[in-house]
Amino acid sequence: MRVGIIGAGQLGQMLGIAAGKLDIECAFLDPSPAPPAAVCGPVVQRPFDDSAALADMAARCDVITYEFENVPVAALSEIEDRVPVRPSTAALHHAQDRLREKQLFTELGIPVPAYRQIDTREDLDTAVAELGLPLIVKTRRLGYDGKGQFVIQTNGDIDRAWHALREQALIAEQWVPFDFEVSAIGVRDTSGEIRIYPLTRNVHKSGILHTSVAPVIAPELADIAAGYLRKLLEHLDYIGVLALELFVLESRLLANEFAPRVHNSGHWTIEGAVTSQFENHLRAVAGLSAGSTDARGHAGMVNLIGAINPAVSALKQGTLHDYGKAPRPGRKLGHITVVSQSAEERDRLLNIIEKTVTQSTPANGSNP
Ligand code: AMP
Repeated sequence: MRVGIIGAGQLGQMLGIAAGKLDIECAFLDPSPAPPAAVCGPVVQRPFDDSAALADMAARCDVITYEFENVPVAALSEIEDRVPVRPSTAALHHAQDRLREKQLFTELGIPVPAYRQIDTREDLDTAVAELGLPLIVKTRRLGYDGKGQFVIQTNGDIDRAWHALREQALIAEQWVPFDFEVSAIGVRDTSGEIRIYPLTRNVHKSGILHTSVAPVIAPELADIAAGYLRKLLEHLDYIGVLALELFVLESRLLANEFAPRVHNSGHWTIEGAVTSQFENHLRAVAGLSAGSTDARGHAGMVNLIGAINPAVSALKQGTLHDYGKAPRPGRKLGHITVVSQSAEERDRLLNIIEKTVTQSTPANGSNP
């Protein structure tokens, strides 16, 4: 079985490592030279929408999947009649546009922050008047890790937000004073079986994921989040891993976005779950049954952003994953996972790791 993966970043690398265990070969498509997944299989160095390269992958692979959601849908649709593309381009179609994504959540009865489509400056004024401040304006497409966003705090910010973002199609959302953020991650296989990981709690800094811990000990929240995730997986006739990001506000959940792929907030599953999100994604897209998503203990993950100091490499408390990328401010270079028998012990170790990480990576604070 050969799986073609569009994108060869760290997610592709971790998929490639999991593939080794399953006797699955991976081949990648990525325009960048020497991407992280190159250690796991051949990389065709062509643009993501290169028809000839995609056609060649379709001919050489049994199934095609992707590690990021901004793969051009039109290019992937061209090969869909020749090789299974999993998850389907229907999932991509919704995940690529924040407006369509919010409309889908609403259609499925999944609550979202109040939002408005913004096409003109008048639309923005109306949104401020109707939704109030603060208001977060986001590009509908190609935004990630907080990029392409502007928070309007006062009326004086409206002009600046408009000038910064007006070239693109926009959405404005009510600012959610959330208690914390969670992600619900699950897998659906070709038989329709769904397995859901324990709920994960996330902390972002400057729009970028900083830490994740799981399981969140809040059975009611976990049940509601799992219910929303199931609706999405079933509605999209989804195959693979999907991550749904939610805000928790006074025991209510509001959906922010979903990623039709393996997700940074699920990295803890490599050591912390019976079957990792990477193995489960591959199992599902390859037509195998999904494995157990049970936790092995209390897991925590810290992202390594901007630089990895040797002091972090020397830490005995966790398992270091170094993606082998060149350091650059704001860049995800690796992560550390810790798994303990109690939440208290996990938090104690996480605290030590976090202190070392933040002390030793000055580039950490320089995210845009
Ligand atoms: P996003 O790119 O939409 O995932 O946003 C990145 C981060 O910005 C989220 O994880 C939140 O921490 C924050 N954020 C996004 N939208 C909102 C919102 N409507 N209210 C409050 N915080 C938000």
